Formats: sequence, structure tokens, C-alpha cells
Amino acid sequence: MNAPAYFNAPAAPVTPDVETLIIGTGFAGLCMAIQLQKAGRHSFMLLEKAEDVGGTWRENTYPGCACDVPSHLYSFSFEPNPDWSRMYSPQPEIQRYIRHCTEKYGLRPHIRFNTEMKRCEFDGASALWHVHTGTGEIITARYLVSGMGPLHKPVYPKIAGLETFKGKSFHSAHWDHEYDFTGKRVAVIGTGASAIQFVPQVAGKVEELHLFQRTPPWVLPKADRDMKPWEQKLFKALPFLQRLFRSQIYLRMESRALGFTVNPKLMNKIAEMGRKYIASQIDDPALREKLTPDYMPGCKRLLISNDYYAALNRANVTLETDGIKEVRASSIITNDGREIEVDAIIYGTGFEAADPINPGQFIGPDGKDLHAHWEKNGAEAYYGISVSGYPNLFFLSGPNTGLGHNSIIFMIEAQVNYILQCLDEVEKRGADMLDVRQNVQDAFNEKLQKEIKTTVWSSGCTSWYQREDGKNTTLWPSFTMRYWHETRRLHPNDYAFSKVSEKIALAAD
Ligand code: NAP
Repeated sequence: MNAPAYFNAPAAPVTPDVETLIIGTGFAGLCMAIQLQKAGRHSFMLLEKAEDVGGTWRENTYPGCACDVPSHLYSFSFEPNPDWSRMYSPQPEIQRYIRHCTEKYGLRPHIRFNTEMKRCEFDGASALWHVHTGTGEIITARYLVSGMGPLHKPVYPKIAGLETFKGKSFHSAHWDHEYDFTGKRVAVIGTGASAIQFVPQVAGKVEELHLFQRTPPWVLPKADRDMKPWEQKLFKALPFLQRLFRSQIYLRMESRALGFTVNPKLMNKIAEMGRKYIASQIDDPALREKLTPDYMPGCKRLLISNDYYAALNRANVTLETDGIKEVRASSIITNDGREIEVDAIIYGTGFEAADPINPGQFIGPDGKDLHAHWEKNGAEAYYGISVSGYPNLFFLSGPNTGLGHNSIIFMIEAQVNYILQCLDEVEKRGADMLDVRQNVQDAFNEKLQKEIKTTVWSSGCTSWYQREDGKNTTLWPSFTMRYWHETRRLHPNDYAFSKVSEKIALAAD
């Protein structure tokens, strides 16, 4: 096997600042750090652009924010929390859990807060990543792990005149808690996972709420309830019971992959449930009609709520479905020519999940910008983790590892386990780096894209799961068990291993 082209000069061994540099301190980054530590790898650093840990759970603080995956599953398998207050605990509690993990595993000294990753460049001569930060530092690392997640770049709608609006406006991910809604006329744009959580909270406070819906979501009742004090005590005393509880939630959620990925026709049953739910909740037949989706449930994220439809029955709430023509200084003009005076606009318009990294953030050997490549072809990686041509770089929650049916934390734990094996294998071979083979990555993605065509996500709707060209770069098209099974053991032959100083590739074949 020939050495990769970027081997240009034998180098004396260079000691990096840290062995592993992790970007982000959400669930993903922290999970990586905890497992590195457990594996006895203490040379790591986490870069965090903000002043606290938590990732999306730090950023999203809008009223009503909660996870739509039950808390006993939406938490680390190795750090059960018997004290969850509800089946679906609210954001502040999830954030407290994340802080608890940070303290318990002694991660704070490893975290550089208020330090944003700006640019990561791979230096072929030393086989090190050079990470440029917003504070002007350059940190070198052997391994680079991105725990940035796909939901951190807010989307603002492209509407004529938006910048001329003189009232208050903010995105759901940047909620202004100082803003007093009392007596205000408020427009909400978007009816996705975030909006259906905050609309019921805001509706009772405002004078008027105009909810601009482009596409109705499918919404089902949420099986939420308080956890009983005796359940919390039992879980504390007998942790295996909590594990059982978690497992049954996991299996119940996992079974939904049958409808999402194997036989989307099963989703017709969900559509029936959704229609019945609308009928039971919404009084006005015309409003029912507007709220009934015309695509298969699951094609866009399936939502759960017990108070969304009730909020839409309120006399001060209007569902606007005519679309927005333009925004003026103090009003919104609809496509049918109405002018709606508003004091505030809240954007519940989501995130750029299909375009998760910025230009210049990951520069490989030979100066290749990963963003440019992903922008052109759609984000692609091997099991969402490794990208050919970018040695020793790993993604958590990377391309095609998102889920519509189960907990993303299950996927993150599988990815962390895989990455640790990569690190071990590099050392075992006395190499400096590994790089997934292009043909392996291509074959994986070809198969994945073929499979995803038969899932519910390709059944004919537009969603943030897909790019404009229709390519789905965000979701794992199968059971999470399969992902776990396929990533639980590293297949070293999938990678080329290289050692800089000897200028040779130590490939397995
Ligand atoms: P989202 O699901 O992408 O929803 C965005 C909404 O904005 C959609 O209704 C979309 O309409 C609408 N929209 C976008 N551009 C628009 C425009 N120009 N004019 C009118 N409407 C426009 O965003 P999100 O609600 O912030 O949620 C994003 C993701 O975050 C979720 O899918 C989920 O993965 C995650 N999340 C999770 C939870 C949880 O409980 N786990 C909670 C919140 C968020 P169209 O449908 O027509 O595009």
C-alpha cells in the first residue's frame, strides 16, 4: 500500500498539546470525554463556545422546552438518574443532568469555556490537527472529535422586508426571557417541534397570537406524567429496575422503526390516530381541515403534545395558512393581501441540519475544505463518524445518524465506543493516524441512500432531513440496534493506517 499523497516529509515526532480535542460540551462531547477518561486516556480538552455546558439544552430555553424522548432513555446508559420528575422532563432538568455529569466525571478542568473553534487544519507533516480558536490560540491535537451536533445553526426565513420590522423578533433558540408578552400581538412563524411546545405557553399571555403554518405537522398525544415518589425511591434502591424501565421504553420506541423504515404503510395507522386526535381536540371543522396534514406521518418529524391543539382553540389565537408575502415595520402582509399588525415575531423556523458545518472549519491535507465537499455532494461519512481524506477526525451525531423514532444518545454512545477502538487500533499498529478508505465510505453511502429511498422520509414531503436536491443526509435509515451491531467492532480493514516518520502506510491488507 502506498503512502497517502499528503505524506511529504518525514517528521520528527511532535508532541501535541492534547491527544484528543473535542468540540462542544453537549451530550455528545461530554460522552466522548467521559469514556476517554474511563479508558485511561486523560489527555483531552473540550472547547466550548459558550460559558456553560449543555449544547442544544443550554441554547434552547424557550417556555415549554422539553425532550420528546422519555427522560429515562434520553440520558446516558452509564449514568441513570432515578430522580427524573416526569416521563418527559423539561429542559431545565435536562440541563441540570448534563451539569451533574460534568461535575461527577470531573470534566470542568478539561473544558475551555468561551472558546469557539474557528478552523481546524490537518498538518500532514506532523499528523496533527491544528485547531484555531476565536481567542487566537492554536491548539494541536492528535485526534479531533466534533460534538457540535446538527441543530445549532438557526434558520431565519427568507421573507421580503423582514429586516424592516421594527418590533421585537427572536428565534426560538435565542429566547428573550425579558420580553413581556402581556397585551402584545405576536406572530409565530413555523409549526415544528419547537413551536408546538412554546405556542401553548405564549398563547395564554398575549393579546393576539397569529401562528403562521406552512405545513401542518402530525401531532399525537404525549404519554407524559409525573414520576411517582415511590418509583424514584424504587429506582434508587434497585437500579436494575430502572434499567428494565429504560429497556422497555427503548424497545417500544425501537419498534417504531418498522413503520418508519421497513413498511411505511404501517404509518397509515398513525395517520388515523392523528386525525382522531384532531377531531377530539379541535372544535372548528375549518380549523380541523387546516391542521390535517396531507403527507405520511413520520415524513416530517412526528410530534407529540397534549396542549398544542387546545391552544389553537383559543379565541385570541389564529392559524394563518395563507403564507407571508412581506413583512413591514409593524405588520405582516399575507399572500391573500391582509395586513396583520404585530408587536413581535418569533421564529420557530428550525435549524440548518443538512448543512451542519461552516466553510473553513475542517481543512484536510492538501487544503481540502470539508464544507465545500459536503455542500456540493451532501454531507457523507462512514457510519456518520469518519470522513475519507480527513485523518483522525471523528464526528458524533454526524451525517445520516439522526433518528425519527428513538434516542440520539443511544447512537452517540455507539459512536464513542467505535472512536475509542479507532484510537486503540492506531496505537496497536504503532501508527500516527487512520483514514477511512474512500471506496469503503462510498459503498456504505451508496447502500444507505438506496435504503433510505424506501423509508417514510422519502414518501413525498419536504423536510429539513433532506437537501433541496432530495438527498437525505441526516437520518439513519434503519433500526438503532443495527447501527449498534455494525459499529460495535471496528473493522480495521476499512481504514488505512499510517506513520508519518516512516512514511509508510500500515494498512491491514
Ligand atoms: P423544524 O421542525 O424544522 O420546524 C420549522 C418550522 O418552521 C416548520 O413548521 C417549517 O414549515 C417552518 N418554516 C420554516 N421556514 C419557513 C418559512 N420561510 N415560512 C413559513 N414557515 C417556515 O424546527 P424546530 O421546531 O426548531 O425543530 C427542529 C428540530 O429540533 C426537530 O425536528 C427536532 O429534531 C429538534 N427538536 C427536538 C425537540 C425534542 O423534543 N426532542 C424539541 C424541539 C426541537 P415546513 O414544515 O413547511 O417546512
